[in-house]
Amino acid sequence: MKKTIRDYDIKDKKVIIRCDFNVPMKDGEIVDDNRIKASLDTIRYAIDNGARVILMSHLGRIKTKEDLEKNSLEAVALRLSELLNKEIIFVDETRGELVDQEVANLKSGEVLLIQNTRYEDLDGKKESGNDKELGKYWASLGDIFINDAFGTAHRAHASNVGIASHIPSGVGFLIEKELKIMLEAINNPKRPLTIILGGSKVSDKIGVIENLVKKADYILIGGGMAFTFLKASGLSVGSSLVDDNYIDFCKRILKENENKIILPIDVVAAKEIKEDSDSRECFISDIKQDEMGLDIGHQTVKLFKHYIDDSKTVIWNGPVGVFEIEKFSRGTIGLCDIIKKDDVTSIIGGGDTGAAIIKLGYKEDVTHISTGGGASLELLEGKVLPGIDIISDK
Ligand code: ADP
Ligand code: MG
Repeated sequence: MKKTIRDYDIKDKKVIIRCDFNVPMKDGEIVDDNRIKASLDTIRYAIDNGARVILMSHLGRIKTKEDLEKNSLEAVALRLSELLNKEIIFVDETRGELVDQEVANLKSGEVLLIQNTRYEDLDGKKESGNDKELGKYWASLGDIFINDAFGTAHRAHASNVGIASHIPSGVGFLIEKELKIMLEAINNPKRPLTIILGGSKVSDKIGVIENLVKKADYILIGGGMAFTFLKASGLSVGSSLVDDNYIDFCKRILKENENKIILPIDVVAAKEIKEDSDSRECFISDIKQDEMGLDIGHQTVKLFKHYIDDSKTVIWNGPVGVFEIEKFSRGTIGLCDIIKKDDVTSIIGGGDTGAAIIKLGYKEDVTHISTGGGASLELLEGKVLPGIDIISDK
């Protein structure tokens, strides 16, 4: 078990909290402040317990000088100040005299945010490359390091792994919650456990498939990846998305999990992935040469319902259709309607899957939507996340 912020006496201590303030920005404005809101519990806890709070985060990518201004954390400091109803001391530097001075002046209960950690990427990728000297310097600013940036926990950067290598560390409430819910669902679920797999390509999800099929009682496969499995089982799938290099992989997975894997029986087929393309529902065997399967059909939703209704836990990665287009979103909506009943624990992983559930209006109807796209996929793959692995053990 990893230490959490609760395991430390933080009163009067300089506590560095690595947050995920990587919010979408447009023309200098924050488009969606959910990530800032998700970090408030940990920050409030640190303030209320009398810590001297030093916040760090990255925002976007910094490759050229032009990237600096549009990825400044100043707008985040303002929004955070509104949400906390408290002054945030923003330091427009990532290191140096000004940073040192402001940290030294910081009083208990006060909050300071330094500039975007990736400003350090401009000069030789020091943040993303986990430059040793940079991690050591940032660690020297604090007494305790708290990692609460789940979205970057799958990367070893100076602002997580670097700092945690030098001072006592723990996780914040957001990472604690992600780990508890995700790992319990994967490793110690209430059974039956059903995995819904969808999304575009098999090749993107080899690790997720390998890890989750071992754990599941039922595996329901939809989305683009279903067609490689269907082809591997000997069916013709027209022009649907197929990863021809992974037919043998799918054959093996099908053979090893014969009684667990359920593939679609019907689809919504169309010739083009367009809002106004003609579409029709048909059985897999009726897909024409020039048609693609772009969503699961009604019969498949019904078939999948049978397994979901019997489940206590559902882990879902990958929309089962091209949900971005309304006429191919009904399968995904159908499954949302089925899992929304309250006696099933439903865990959503993956960036696009979370976005789909939120866009389709089911955010409140599922147990947990993981906040980190890449990080949640790596948890589903059973990987150890370096930003969490480095944190002190209890
Ligand atoms: P995540 O980011 O949650 O891991 P993916 O990136 O694997 O999910 O999958 C999301 C994408 O899969 C969506 O953009 C969606 O349009 C696409 N998709 C779903 N079903 C199909 C299909 N039948 N054919 C092509 N693409 C599909
Ligand atoms: Mg994706």
